[in-house]
Amino acid sequence: SLNGNILGLDIGTSGIRATVVSPTNVLLHTIQEEMPFPIRDNLISEQSPAVWQDTLKRLLNRLQQNSVLSGIKHIVADATSSSVLLMDDHLAPLTTALMYDDKRAIEQATKISKYAPTNSAAHGASSTLAKVMWLEGSLQQKLPQNGCKIAHQIDWVNSFFTQALCPTDANNALKLGFNPVENKWPDWVQKLVNSSLPEVVIPGTIIGKISQTVADTYGFPNDAQVYAGTTDSIAAFLASGAKNLGDATSSLGSTISLKLLTDKPIFSPEHGIYSHTLGELWLVGGASNTGGAVLLKYFSLPEILSLLEEVNINQPTNLDYYPLLTPGERFPIANNALQPRVSPRPSSDSKFLLALIEGLVGIEKLGYELLEELSSTKIQTIYTTGGGTKNDVWMALRETRLGYKTKKAAQTDAAFGVTQLLFRSFCR
Ligand code: ADP
Repeated sequence: SLNGNILGLDIGTSGIRATVVSPTNVLLHTIQEEMPFPIRDNLISEQSPAVWQDTLKRLLNRLQQNSVLSGIKHIVADATSSSVLLMDDHLAPLTTALMYDDKRAIEQATKISKYAPTNSAAHGASSTLAKVMWLEGSLQQKLPQNGCKIAHQIDWVNSFFTQALCPTDANNALKLGFNPVENKWPDWVQKLVNSSLPEVVIPGTIIGKISQTVADTYGFPNDAQVYAGTTDSIAAFLASGAKNLGDATSSLGSTISLKLLTDKPIFSPEHGIYSHTLGELWLVGGASNTGGAVLLKYFSLPEILSLLEEVNINQPTNLDYYPLLTPGERFPIANNALQPRVSPRPSSDSKFLLALIEGLVGIEKLGYELLEELSSTKIQTIYTTGGGTKNDVWMALRETRLGYKTKKAAQTDAAFGVTQLLFRSFCR
């Protein structure tokens, strides 16, 4: 039971955000501390955990100065998915962290493809498993005798608070090869790595108590508990207000991603569809290559805003576009060679813009129809986030053509979303 305030932490790419939420689920406080970006070069994207530590300490110092930490009894965090490093038994980092978008583990990915079933999320050079294999290779003879500990970014954060090795959560473990349906590590995963695989628990489980040292340093109560968290994108989903079977979120950004709470998992690698466990439910997600960026390919934002004034949404163009920046699509149509369909182009720019937006809405509708069909779950409410929510015509067209109830997301802050793990049981 919640006997004090909750500290929610979102470890992002440009900073760490924190929220304080009351036991009655009222957002009391939000604060952000900036963090230098990962070092990026070609396939490389890496960051020293010392950067995370410095940033987290600065953030905690500020929260302490604001006298909010003495009321915190529960700590829960999310972090970027598939960012990972190796640590020794004493939690000292043995390597730098390969970040979510690092793609250098190409040979390792080839090896994985020989062992992993096709529907595993551990495929590809940016999977956590490929990165762990790469990191182990980089240590060579410096490998410690009793092996390394695998620490996702989230595990590093949690062990900062507990000063002990923490179990990881099933959401972050997915790209390391964990099988959430059977709730175990498949044998082939351990064959590919020397390090021992972490214990896995469901998000929202208590995984430890704050260490006395950390409690004393920052003024936390010494019985504050640390909970298993989730990935950044699931935390953002939780912020939206979606919570029941059939609730969905559409993230209308440069690209469009859809997520739906179902009672059965779907793994359809050809469509790029994976499922994350949440209580008794499953969070099923798919992402299209289309999105708001296509509109910006043809018009500047000021041009879009002025053309939107002229658009009449009650006069459909019936042009049946499939707008894409470049050929190739994964979801809802799995076809690496799919050509963008944006012709014929009407002479009127406002009609052309309307046809593009109609195309985006059509793809979103197709996406939800596919998710509904594969999961046999009826969609209840779609919560919407992203820059696309500022495009009134896009939003109005969705309202009339999607055929589902839509709502603007209550919140977008993942640091708030992750705290919702402590309020929801995600029952059928
Ligand atoms: P990203 O996914 O890169 O973070 P955003 O969510 O900021 O992108 O924006 C996604 C899309 O939303 C843009 O490509 C653009 O089409 C649209 N958009 C962003 N800002 C506005 C605005 N002020 N008015 C209308 N449309 C906007």
